[in-house]
Amino acid sequence: MTLTDHLLARIAQDGPMSVADYMTECLLHPTQGYYSTRDPLGALGDFITAPEISQMFGELIGLSLAQAWIDQGHPNRFALAELGPGRGTLMADILRATRNIEGFHDAAEVTLLEASPILRQIQSDTLNGYTPRWIETVADLPDAPLFLVANEFFDALPIRQFLRDGDGWRERLVGREGESLTYGLGAQASQVALMDRLDDTQDGDLVELCPSAIPIITVLAGRIATQGGAGLIVDYGDWHSLGDTLQAVRKHQRADPLQAPGQADLTAQVDFEPLATATRAAGCAHTRLTPQGVFLERLGITARAQKLSATLGGVELDKLVSAHRRLTHPNEMGNLFKVLGLYPSYASPPPGLET
Ligand code: SAH
Repeated sequence: MTLTDHLLARIAQDGPMSVADYMTECLLHPTQGYYSTRDPLGALGDFITAPEISQMFGELIGLSLAQAWIDQGHPNRFALAELGPGRGTLMADILRATRNIEGFHDAAEVTLLEASPILRQIQSDTLNGYTPRWIETVADLPDAPLFLVANEFFDALPIRQFLRDGDGWRERLVGREGESLTYGLGAQASQVALMDRLDDTQDGDLVELCPSAIPIITVLAGRIATQGGAGLIVDYGDWHSLGDTLQAVRKHQRADPLQAPGQADLTAQVDFEPLATATRAAGCAHTRLTPQGVFLERLGITARAQKLSATLGGVELDKLVSAHRRLTHPNEMGNLFKVLGLYPSYASPPPGLET
């Protein structure tokens, strides 16, 4: 049975499903989900991420986290954690960049949250020599200070979509028409989680909610507030979005999200405002939302690029210059991607970010 057949049968039995349920099936179905069946980031993959573009990204993240660890009295045991580590490249770069920071590696318990068995295997190969531990949920994070990064993790979490209808909302649903998947709308209802969006939307506007992000960020924020640590949440998105941001990408091309389920990566822009609100509700401080380009410049990416370029020439040098531009330039990833930093209210914010 293909994933499409499975989805059509499920809709025939239970009725139309939320966009969130559809995303969950497409990404994480145990045998046919996108992340369950492939490495989407490989050379022949569907998309590329900042750590796969250049080692400079992970190196600077590593130095920011390590400086935060030093600023907080270099606790002698802490979780060095990553959510959705992909091929393990970012964590490998963090570890390489921090290997000369006295005591950092000895104190670090490398902890990874990863849903995909295939990517877990690749992470295990990449991080060979570091004995990472994989956890099933953020509740399993070690009971210790938490220094964490999540790059392009929250954008993969399932979203629900709602169309404004008067003072209520109709949920966008995935249904079937014959043997095809198609969008429809649920009944009008009020939505407590969308109360504040009645102020900045009009009839017919579409807004999104990412329900599963809130319990995750709440655990991270609670951990950092009580145990110490820092969190760097990096993703594409903004304070809050307006309109349909569900995006399917296959072989570096945009695709229709309802076509070929399980064969394309599905993501949505991250709304940082609800993450920030949940962070504060958990008693944790957060930084200003900062464009990735600004964050990396503050951490010295240009100096780092110059240092690396000293030994390069030809194609390798061109690659480095283009990677620097891609990560930082406002017309590339520099502005589309944002960083939110979490830190305990008694400590200073992680380097590269400000309050
Ligand atoms: N951070 C990496 C990979 C980003 S792709 C990089 O920057 O290259 C998204 C990652 O999140 C993948 O590793 C994917 O398998 C993982 N992921 C997606 N949804 C997840 C979930 N619900 N729980 C755990 N991991 C998830």
